[in-house]
Amino acid sequence: MKKNYFDFIICGGGASGLLLLKALREDSFFINQSILLIEKEKKNKNDRTWSYWENLDGPFDSMVTKKWSEAQFCSKDFNFNFDLDPFQYKMLRSAVIYQNILDKYITAKNTTFLQAEVKDIVSNENLTEIITSEGKFQSKKVFNSLFDPKPMMNQKKYPVLKQHFVGWFIKTKNTSFDPHKVLFMDFDIPQLQETRFLYLLPIDENNALVEYTLFSENLLHFDDYETGIIDYLNSKGITEFEIKEKEQGNIPMTCFPFEKFNTKSLLYIGTAGGWTKATTGFTFMNTRRNIEHLIQFLKRGGNLDNFRVRNRFRFYDLLFLDVLKQYNNHGSELFTSMFKNNPPARIFRFLDEKTNYIEDFKILTSFSFTQITWFLRALFNRIFKIFVPLN
Ligand SMILES: Cc1cc2nc3c(=O)[nH]c(=O)nc-3n(C[C@H](O)[C@H](O)[C@H](O)COP(=O)(O)OP(=O)(O)OC[C@H]3O[C@@H](n4cnc5c(N)ncnc54)[C@H](O)[C@@H]3O)c2cc1C
Repeated sequence: MKKNYFDFIICGGGASGLLLLKALREDSFFINQSILLIEKEKKNKNDRTWSYWENLDGPFDSMVTKKWSEAQFCSKDFNFNFDLDPFQYKMLRSAVIYQNILDKYITAKNTTFLQAEVKDIVSNENLTEIITSEGKFQSKKVFNSLFDPKPMMNQKKYPVLKQHFVGWFIKTKNTSFDPHKVLFMDFDIPQLQETRFLYLLPIDENNALVEYTLFSENLLHFDDYETGIIDYLNSKGITEFEIKEKEQGNIPMTCFPFEKFNTKSLLYIGTAGGWTKATTGFTFMNTRRNIEHLIQFLKRGGNLDNFRVRNRFRFYDLLFLDVLKQYNNHGSELFTSMFKNNPPARIFRFLDEKTNYIEDFKILTSFSFTQITWFLRALFNRIFKIFVPLN
């Protein structure tokens, strides 16, 4: 074996790259396979906070900062408090995951970590070559999590929205939060012709992560997100607080088929592979699930371009994005219809792509008559590719 050849090469040591490394190294089937992980950063800082829901116990529970069993959804005329049962909502700091996985597996047998910048990836079907600042490496199985938005932005067939936000970890002077309840979405803020909401994860009565979030096409100026947070806090009587940390995100919401760039020896993973849930921006759980499938797929053998993650939910997401893009000023009402007319557990299972056809139908018919006509027009446009005006 040449020194620059590895059985598996993982480009990018973020969520998907590290979770894949962990899954491969924990499975004795791959014990003799060499793995190279290439990452440009040291990954020793907290650069994001992942939240997700799952059934009560999960494999990262020992690392989570906080779990909640209750949640709240708000919009202009609707304030809904609910039990998350059978789920819990969990908050995981990225630094904890980075450190835990790197500490445990970086020195594992047959594992190489290279801190380098990937400059280019050249895939000749059966073999893929990675050109980095520290040399060239080859493998018949390359997993790439480096996200390139250009192909997605340079097309018109698939709508592209963004989940964009600024979040502050704050500590308030007075007790301000109910630590048992996560504020999943609060649309009761000025929408300004877009889909805007507040998301608040209370760690205790004085500490919380609060995020001013949009599902829309265009980013705001940084100050606008921050003003949104301040206005919201003030509206709740929270005027004295200290900002402990800030984070910012811009997550693509699209059904663009990233998998078309896969080859026999190259698989795009994580956001780069389209593993972000198009209608919510949630990626962390999808990534965990897809990696479980990928491990089984690798054991069966076969070319990487045969690995599939598409299902009927991609089409629902596509229609929802068509509508949300066209009626971005009505996003709050769309989400309100869903939460008003469905048990929350059904919504979360639908977002997890685990509902059956009957439940899908119940979700789809929980929208108002006018909203359903928007979806039907989007459907006709997609299926018949005929021009039906969407307004
Ligand atoms: C602030 C923030 C909060 C989020 N919160 C949530 C959440 O609550 N729940 C949820 O489900 N999702 C969330 N997401 C979305 C998603 O889970 C994350 O973006 C997730 O990290 C995506 O994983 P990934 O592996 O695709 O990409 P990343 O984690 O971004 O990993 C890509 C890696 O590639 C490295 N890299 C990039 N270019 C190069 C190069 N040229 N050479 C070498 N290395 C390179 C980067 O340094 C990075 O480590 C959040 C995203 C952000 C930004």
